[in-house]
Amino acid sequence: MNCPTVRLGFAAWIGVFIIAFAANPWGVFADPGSLADQRVSVRLMEGQKLIGLRAAAPLSVRGGKTDPELPAGTYTIHLSNAKPARQRFHLFAKSFQPGEDAAERAYIAEWKAKGRDAEAVVIGRRLQTESGIVLDSRVHWISVARFESEEAAKAGKAKLEREGQWTWMNAETVAPGTGRIEVKDAKGKVVAALDASAAIQSAAPVRLSNVDTGFWKEDKKQLEYAGLLEVGIDPKARLMLVESLPVETYLEGVLPAEMPASWPVGALKAQAVAARSEVLASLGTKHALEGFEFCGSEHCRAYLGASGLRDTTSAAVRETAGEILVRDGKIVPTVFSSNCGGWTESNETVWRSPANPALRAVSDLAGGNEKSPIGRGMSAWLTQPPKANCSGDPEGFRWRRKYTAGELSAIVNKRHAVGTISKIDLGERGEGGRLKSVTIRGAKQTVTVEKELPIRSAFGGLPSAMFVLERSGSTYTFTGGGRGHGVGLCQYGARGMAERGIVYTRIVLHYFTGARLERYR
Ligand SMILES: [Zn+2]
Ligand SMILES: [Zn+2]
Repeated sequence: MNCPTVRLGFAAWIGVFIIAFAANPWGVFADPGSLADQRVSVRLMEGQKLIGLRAAAPLSVRGGKTDPELPAGTYTIHLSNAKPARQRFHLFAKSFQPGEDAAERAYIAEWKAKGRDAEAVVIGRRLQTESGIVLDSRVHWISVARFESEEAAKAGKAKLEREGQWTWMNAETVAPGTGRIEVKDAKGKVVAALDASAAIQSAAPVRLSNVDTGFWKEDKKQLEYAGLLEVGIDPKARLMLVESLPVETYLEGVLPAEMPASWPVGALKAQAVAARSEVLASLGTKHALEGFEFCGSEHCRAYLGASGLRDTTSAAVRETAGEILVRDGKIVPTVFSSNCGGWTESNETVWRSPANPALRAVSDLAGGNEKSPIGRGMSAWLTQPPKANCSGDPEGFRWRRKYTAGELSAIVNKRHAVGTISKIDLGERGEGGRLKSVTIRGAKQTVTVEKELPIRSAFGGLPSAMFVLERSGSTYTFTGGGRGHGVGLCQYGARGMAERGIVYTRIVLHYFTGARLERYR
C-alpha cells in the first residue's frame, strides 16, 4: 500500500517552495483545502541510535516492498548503512511582503553589488476562512549567505553583526539522509526492514522512549503519540522521528503545556484561539526548510502528544475549532506570556521585528483610563501598582532581586566581559515600560545590551525587562513587574478576566489591537 502523505516528507516541502517560487514568485498555491485537511509535522526526536516503542494495537510499517502489519507489542528501531542528511545554513537579513517586489529587487541588487549572492526564499502559507477571506502569510526572506555547517554560519553571522548587519539563521535540508531501517521485536528478531524513510501507524497511540521535550534542559520522557510517525535519517546520520497530524489534534497536545488545565474555561478558550493563530501564523517560518514544520520542544512550542491530553484543554480546542485572529488579511501572530505586569508591550520594543499593528502595548489594568507606566513614573508604577487583570499572581506581577556588587559583576561577566561593574545606565523604554537597552560600564569595557531577552539574560535571567535598578552602598536592587516578554496575550490577565465572567472572545480581542475573530476552513 502506498502512502502519499509519507512520500510528501522531507524533500517535497523544499520542492514545493522552490518550484512555486521559480515558476511564479507570488503565484497561488493549490486550493487551501478544508479545516480537516490542514496538517502539521512535528519532529519528536533526532540524534537517536535506537528508538524504542510500545504499541497497544497492531502496528503498520510502510515504505518497504511488503509493508508488514505487526502485532501489538514492544519494538526497537535500528539503523545501518546510514548516510547523513545534507544541510546548508542560511543567514536571512530582511523579509518582504507581497507587493514589495521593486523594493525587494533593489535590496537584492544592493547585496549583489557588495559581492554577496543574495536570493529570496518563499516562507509561509496561504489559508482561507469560512467567510471567504484569503489569509496570505507568505513572505520572502532574503538569504544573504549560505554555509555548509552550523559553525561556519555562526561565524558568518557574528562577522556580519560586527559590520552592523543583524541576520537570523535557518537550516535547510538539501538532501535527506539515507540508510537501512530495521524494526526488531522484543526478542531481537527483525520483523521489518526497509530503506529510509519509513512510516509507522497504529490505531492506538504509540508510546516512545527518549523523547526530547526540553529546549532549555535535557528532559527525556516517555510520551505517547497518535499521529502518523515518519522515521528518517538526520544530519548526524542518526534516527529522527517526525509526527504528522491534523492542526486541531496538534493543538490539543500543545494547550496543556501552555496553560494549566485547571484554569477557568474562558482563559483556556482564549489560550486555544491564541495558540491556533500563533501555530498557523508561524507555518513555514521555523523548520519548514528542514522538511518538517515544528520541533516538539520549547524552541517552537512544547508539545506533549497524546499522553499530555486533558479533558478541559481538549474541550477548549474543540469548542473554538478553527477560530483564529485576523488583521489586514493576515493571521495575527498571537504571542503570549505569563504575566504582563499590568501593561503589555509593543513587539518591536521586545524583538527585532517590524512593528505589527496587532501587537501594540495595551493596558491590562482592571479600571479604565489609568495612566501608563511611563506616564505614572516607573518607580511609582512598580512599587505602588494599580489593580490589574493579572495582579492575582503576586510573584509574577511584582518582583525584587538583590545582589551584592561582587555577585552582580560575576553574573554579568558570564556573558559580557566588562570586568568589575562601575555603573549601569538604564536606556529608553517601550510604552509598556520594558527597557529597550541597558549600558553596563565596567573596568575593562562598556557594553550596551539591546532587546528584552538579552537584557534579562545579562542580569542572570530576570523575570522581565520591566524594572528599575537602585544601588545602595554595595547592594543592587532590581524592582520589576511581569514575567515573560509581555507582548500579546497576558495569561494571568486572561485568567483574571475569565474569573470575572468575561467571555473568551472579548479576552483575546482585548490583547490584539484591531483584530477580528474568523474561522479558517
Ligand atoms: Zn523548533
Ligand atoms: Zn497582564
